[in-house]
Amino acid sequence: ETLAVEEGHAFLRGRQVPLRDAHVNVMTHAFLFGTAVYEGIRGYAHPDTGQVYLFRLQDHFRRLLESCGVLRISLPYSVEDMCRLTTELVQVNGIREDCYVRPIAYKAGLQFGLRLADRDDLAIVAVPLERFHRDRTSLSVCVSSWRRVRDNAIPARAKINGAYVNSALAMTEALERGFDDAIFLTEDGYVSEGTGMNVFIVRGGRVCTPSVTDDILEGITRDTVIHLLERHMGIKVEARRINRTELYTAEEIFFCGTGMEVVSVGQVDGRTVGRGQSPLVDALRRRYFELVRGVAEECPAGWRTPVHGGFGNPA
Ligand code: PMP
Repeated sequence: ETLAVEEGHAFLRGRQVPLRDAHVNVMTHAFLFGTAVYEGIRGYAHPDTGQVYLFRLQDHFRRLLESCGVLRISLPYSVEDMCRLTTELVQVNGIREDCYVRPIAYKAGLQFGLRLADRDDLAIVAVPLERFHRDRTSLSVCVSSWRRVRDNAIPARAKINGAYVNSALAMTEALERGFDDAIFLTEDGYVSEGTGMNVFIVRGGRVCTPSVTDDILEGITRDTVIHLLERHMGIKVEARRINRTELYTAEEIFFCGTGMEVVSVGQVDGRTVGRGQSPLVDALRRRYFELVRGVAEECPAGWRTPVHGGFGNPA
């Protein structure tokens, strides 16, 4: 999963710079304290035309600005500016395959003082991405012994770099115990989310997911999945508190997120989920890929941003 990145350009301090020169000083507040917010965005190459679509680009930058608000980061860029900077970067890097974009808004002051002072910057990295989780279609996970960071400690709603220590601890523990990933509970013991993805369960034919007040990141894929289930598959989604033992008694469980996409969870804490099959998740996964790749015609406005010119109809 470690990306080797030697070529290409990044966006930093207001301009494109070669990646090898895209340095940040060790005295930077964001490096000293984790005071940055970020997004993970995927680009998908259409199987026939070779067009690359950035998925829900505007929505990612809207969320980035919300995160910035929490961390008192103010950027001189609008959502539209950042969308343009991103498509230009993907073009300059000559990317015509699946790719991953990581914008990071960070506290750029060189200072030991903790205060969130106003010296802010935006960095963007865009790299080709051949495989990333794609070979994993059913995961064996544990309930983490680490609890999800609470809204009143470090809000999970804002995608704060430093908060990913919480996810890194849970992921490392899960891997060391022989699992593929982990599910967090909230401090109160309700199901929250995965290390880098949201979680859904199917119980009694109903699809449920933790609500936005359960210390989750309000995932864009979560929203996409709710759209596909409700609008295209006729299945209503309930956002509500979920108990740990509902994981043990669910018919199907799945993770969703930009990186993870839509992946079935086959085992939780050594218990096989349902009868070991995931018909709903399999159907949903198919629809998800048709949507993001541009194969499905029907798509809400603004969800697919084409990167390269000369393709006619922007979707
Ligand atoms: N929860 C966490 C903790 C995440 O890091 C992510 C990935 N960004 C998600 C959920 C899923 O969010 P999205 O679908 O917007 O990528």
